[in-house]
Amino acid sequence: MMRGVPKLNIVVTGGAGFIGSNLCDRLIRQGHRIVCIDNLFTGTYGNIQPLMNHPNFRFIEHDVRDPLKVYGPVDRIYNLACPASPRHYQRDPIGTLRTCMLGAYNVLELACEKNARVLQASTSEVYGDPEIHPQVESYVGHVNPIGPRACYDEGKRCAETMFFDYRRVHRARIKVARIFNTYGPRMLENDGRIISNFIVQALKDAPITVYGDGTQTRSFCFVDDLLEGLERLMESADEVTGPFNLGNPDERSVQEIASLVRDQAGSQSRIEYRPLPQDDPRRRQPSITKAYDLMGWKPRVALNKGLRTTIDYFTLKIATEDAERSRPAASLRVQGGRSSSRRRTPVAQGSAVQ
Ligand code: NAD
Ligand code: UDP
Repeated sequence: MMRGVPKLNIVVTGGAGFIGSNLCDRLIRQGHRIVCIDNLFTGTYGNIQPLMNHPNFRFIEHDVRDPLKVYGPVDRIYNLACPASPRHYQRDPIGTLRTCMLGAYNVLELACEKNARVLQASTSEVYGDPEIHPQVESYVGHVNPIGPRACYDEGKRCAETMFFDYRRVHRARIKVARIFNTYGPRMLENDGRIISNFIVQALKDAPITVYGDGTQTRSFCFVDDLLEGLERLMESADEVTGPFNLGNPDERSVQEIASLVRDQAGSQSRIEYRPLPQDDPRRRQPSITKAYDLMGWKPRVALNKGLRTTIDYFTLKIATEDAERSRPAASLRVQGGRSSSRRRTPVAQGSAVQ
């Protein structure tokens, strides 16, 4: 679909995270020039290591809560910087709120300065514990503003507000994607999210931890499908702002996911029930009619296939880690020089999309 698209200068905030690093890979493969900005709160060097020596890729270790300076032209900004897992966004709730709000402000200021398009990675969490099903974009949501999830939910809602106000006031070229549960390679092993938790538990034959009675539902989108949606949205006409739901409508209960993962991993794990976290949404399923009608987008990767790819990823990762742990200390020291090959450029020194 992207054949014939000119080579662009693209900033990806949160580019060392799960979705961000997969996005950087994809954009580099298309020949674009990427500046990846990340403070490594939940992102890792490992995720971007394969790109570090690519001439079109530059990494800037920087916090989006601080103003962004990028020298040279910028055509596109994907704003993905924000922890996405409840475990991590609740670890520093005030920090999460500030990342959502100040991050949105700083990318919008950069977008206006550069006349760039800017895409906000919003979330299905803006619907909270939804009272309508499936969720359509016109639904305004049901969020507890003072609960433990609010730092993320309300932060993302505020970011959407800022995006649309920047459009009204400054004619900013905005795009808003409401991303539903996405999974795939490069999720963090200790991320706390359902797919990574269950796979790692299954591969280690450890108990699979189902919160509550497991009847709550989610709908899971494989990362490659999501990236296609994000890119179609970014490359749509300026009048097309969204918000668009991007997710896979294939709705499953948590209990069902536990059984599926256990079977696919060939695991002996037993199911262990744990308390349901506060404000955990009961049901979630995107309506993607709007994205399909306006952008021709729909997900293509079936859950079984996406899980297979993700299980293979974690199998290799765990095996590699085990092998590294059992290596003698001296050889570990030699192996440990990952930082020497990093290409890190502080913002102040002005790395740029050049
Ligand atoms: P992730 O935690 O793997 O990636 C987030 C990245 O942002 C990390 O690399 C982290 O270090 C970086 N980051 C966090 N705070 C930062 C800050 N203040 N300054 C600079 N970098 C910062 O999460 P992900 O799953 O890749 O999610 C990416 C984006 O998509 C997030 O904005 C998230 O809210 C959104 N989203 C994800 C999902 C999902 O299911 N994965 C669903 C809805 C929305
Ligand atoms: N969940 C679970 N066990 C886990 C992790 C998550 O039962 O080890 C449940 C969680 O309570 C929620 C669903 O799985 O109902 C999805 O959780 P996740 O944190 O992945 O995403 P979110 O709640 O943000 O959609």
